[in-house]
Amino acid sequence: MRLAALLLEDLAVQLPAFTSDSRLLLFAPHPDDESLACSILLQQAVRAGAAVRVVYVTDGDDNPWPQRVLERKWRLNATDRRRWGRLRRTEALAALRVLGVNGAATRFLGLPDQKLTAVLMCDCQSGLERFAAIIAGWGPTHLLAPSISDTHPDHSALAVMLRLVLDESFSEPMATGQMAVWSYVVHGKSAAFFDRTATICQSHQEAATKLRAIRCHKTQLKLSRKRFLGYANRPERVVKLGARDETLVDGSITSVFRVAHSLRIGLRLAPKAMRMSEPTLFVLGRGEAGTLRCTTIRIPARSSGVEILDSVSLDGVAEAQYCGNAFAGQLTIPVPIFSSASTIFVKLERRSWFFDEGGWLEIPPAESRTIAEVQRDGVEAGLVTIH
Ligand SMILES: [Zn+2]
Repeated sequence: MRLAALLLEDLAVQLPAFTSDSRLLLFAPHPDDESLACSILLQQAVRAGAAVRVVYVTDGDDNPWPQRVLERKWRLNATDRRRWGRLRRTEALAALRVLGVNGAATRFLGLPDQKLTAVLMCDCQSGLERFAAIIAGWGPTHLLAPSISDTHPDHSALAVMLRLVLDESFSEPMATGQMAVWSYVVHGKSAAFFDRTATICQSHQEAATKLRAIRCHKTQLKLSRKRFLGYANRPERVVKLGARDETLVDGSITSVFRVAHSLRIGLRLAPKAMRMSEPTLFVLGRGEAGTLRCTTIRIPARSSGVEILDSVSLDGVAEAQYCGNAFAGQLTIPVPIFSSASTIFVKLERRSWFFDEGGWLEIPPAESRTIAEVQRDGVEAGLVTIH
């Protein structure tokens, strides 16, 4: 009995629970994410009498294929995109009405759709200040944010931006329990997310309402009807963010080891994937003065048939090893530009269509420790292990 009570208590801590005093703030990268991943939670918050604000970071206006089909127009210009963005806003407001959420509290920020990674890597300071002002202004008890493990690059980039903001300005309300933060995934099946999720229970009625909310996004149903409606049957899952969560590897990154001013990253890239596109490693963190710094390392593909093991310098900042035309080994990256007290974020970008194969990894400041080591024997045929 005692164990069961403890397990229930533990589960309760990991799931959002709302009262009439709750203030929920949901950050959605695009119109539709609220319906696909958070419909049940929004309904539960509304029923409890909580105040709810949904913030749409982009208008989802860079969405050319459904627009071409629906508008029967091949070339789309800036005016067309703005019109599409306005249409997607009206769809989002209709979905929120179905879920019982007050549309007057909704905010649309209009950041560039499909370009949040570029915003993060190039110039996100004004965006971070905007997010901080929204969070401070609403004073949420519950905050829902996309996961850094989501395979849509806009989702994972927004997740990193929000973590930077929370870390810098809201660590106290998080530590004292005044504000709890949960992350959600819309795209992909990352074990880094799904291995630690809590599942939200849903009634038949809540699931039916979720389906009606998804149906409000008519522009998205045009080309992806089955996939979109399938979300109504998928249970909603969240991961509660802790102060010091363990870093789990994702995608082609097999290990991460951080010492004071250096990162050692284990990678395994199959030859086929290396030919598809040139992988790029993004590294981002704060410098000694607190300003955001980032570095980008291209990992060039090798011509096939090279059977020797050799060491190469990548962009002058990293040492890497190739074996044949695959890549399997360690990158050692000097990172003196980052403060050793700063969290570092890493992502290997290798897109297929517009999805990533994995999200960002958050690597906390640490004296010296192995974050994770995984074995993937037999998963990627054709790889040669480097000893
Ligand atoms: Zn989205």
